[in-house]
Amino acid sequence: METFDLFIDNEFGPAASGAYFETENPYTGKSWARVASAGAEDVDRAVCAAHRAMAAKSWRAAPVERAALLRKLGDLVKTNVERLAVAEVRDNGKTISEMRGQMRNTAEWYYYYAGLADKIEGRVLPTENPDLFNFTLYEPVGVVAAILPWNSPLRLLAWKVAPALAAGNAIVVKPSEFTSTSTLIFAELVKEAGFPAGIFNVVTGAGAEAGALLMAHSLVAKVAFTGGEAAGQKVYEAAARDIKLASLELGGKAANIIFEDADFDNAVRGAVTGIFTSAGQSCTAGSRILVQRSIHDRFVEAIAALGRKGRMGDPMDPATEIGPIATRPQYERILKAIEGAKAEGARLHSGGKPAEIGEGMGLFIEPTIFVDVDNRMRLAQEEIFGPVAAVIAFDDEGEAIRIANDTRYGLTGGVWTQNIARAHRVAAAIDAGTIWVNFYRQTSQLSPYGGFKHSGIGKEGGSQVIHDYLREKSVWFNLAPQVRSPFAG
Ligand code: NAD
Repeated sequence: METFDLFIDNEFGPAASGAYFETENPYTGKSWARVASAGAEDVDRAVCAAHRAMAAKSWRAAPVERAALLRKLGDLVKTNVERLAVAEVRDNGKTISEMRGQMRNTAEWYYYYAGLADKIEGRVLPTENPDLFNFTLYEPVGVVAAILPWNSPLRLLAWKVAPALAAGNAIVVKPSEFTSTSTLIFAELVKEAGFPAGIFNVVTGAGAEAGALLMAHSLVAKVAFTGGEAAGQKVYEAAARDIKLASLELGGKAANIIFEDADFDNAVRGAVTGIFTSAGQSCTAGSRILVQRSIHDRFVEAIAALGRKGRMGDPMDPATEIGPIATRPQYERILKAIEGAKAEGARLHSGGKPAEIGEGMGLFIEPTIFVDVDNRMRLAQEEIFGPVAAVIAFDDEGEAIRIANDTRYGLTGGVWTQNIARAHRVAAAIDAGTIWVNFYRQTSQLSPYGGFKHSGIGKEGGSQVIHDYLREKSVWFNLAPQVRSPFAG
């Protein structure tokens, strides 16, 4: 069994307690590594290292050097695509082809924010009094705590690390306890790139322990969280107690709306992309497929047929299109949600049970489609995070919009129509942070991404995000030779 240790102050080492937890490969079902379990002493050491490191002028006042380091890190991610992708597959069971693509794109995030590191410019402001001079400075916010989920660990890590470090902060990362190893391998690249000790640290362990300890640390200035709604609420409460800044990227229950005037075959591909790729384990999943009644039955048959063609198997095999569910608790949760959907009256059209793949140890679930779904059912309201589609019929545009917005989430949405005016109307009417028209699922370092309503607070991606990792200080100068009387009106 391999061993993975904490990464603090540019050194790998065990937790102070010497404790480890085991991590399982979701395809083989076997434990293959042990990972250090951080406690209070380790979290404190990591946060203090970060706090010390970012105080150095050679880091916070050196934008050109920071940019160069981030570019170097991007280069290292690029030359290590295969190694990182394999680590991700071993951790979360997503397919090697998806993970290779993700790793190539991950490098771009470091390049993009490297380009912004030396373009952080303050402002000179007009004043009402000609004897006063006022300007602003942007400063790093402080130590950032990044908490990550298991579904796309290194990609989502880049969304936080790249802008946080470009802005001159230091970071302590707590990856998911199910997928810690890829982040620790990435830490080797951070060290190789030449970042000063303490700028990037990794503490591994359970959310309620290492995660909660990190949230509660008084030297953490900002929490950047991606994960589920329940943990997100706890993190937000902890941040509020200590008046910390917080950004939250949470769950979704996106509506993928198919109008009768859509290009049928493209819409079928888009609906299947939305819910069955990554075995549905994506916050962007188009898990509610809203289909206009006139094409409903034909559409359901077509997505079921295409879904069945998705080749399930060893995620390391480049021919595999659908991998296993990433974790055992998640696998059990999905099967329970399927039973719950049947119990509340949704009709199972296809799938709905575990799939026997390979040696039968992997956590596979068949692409599953429910029809006759009422949007008030739990099936349509709760995020399942698995290959389970809820198909809902609608009659007209107004009804589609009403159903799409009748959810507490607001992360993403899809619209399929060849009527350009309708496409604009519906995209504007859907209450979600990202809308895709006539395709599904695209994010980029160039564009802001983030949820509305219970899907979160804040954005990731795009140039403005660097300001979420900065604080603006207003500096006033008096230019008059004499300070005016304290009692003048
Ligand atoms: P999760 O909420 O269970 O865990 C996320 C992280 O939070 C883990 O590192 C966990 O250890 C930690 N955590 C849990 N409780 C904590 C606590 N009390 N204090 C501090 N940290 C704590 O989520 P998950 O199951 O790992 O990931 C799936 C969820 O992530 C889904 O809901 C999905 O929609 C969401 N997600 C959102 C986005 C997005 O960009 N909006 C992207 C990917 C995943």
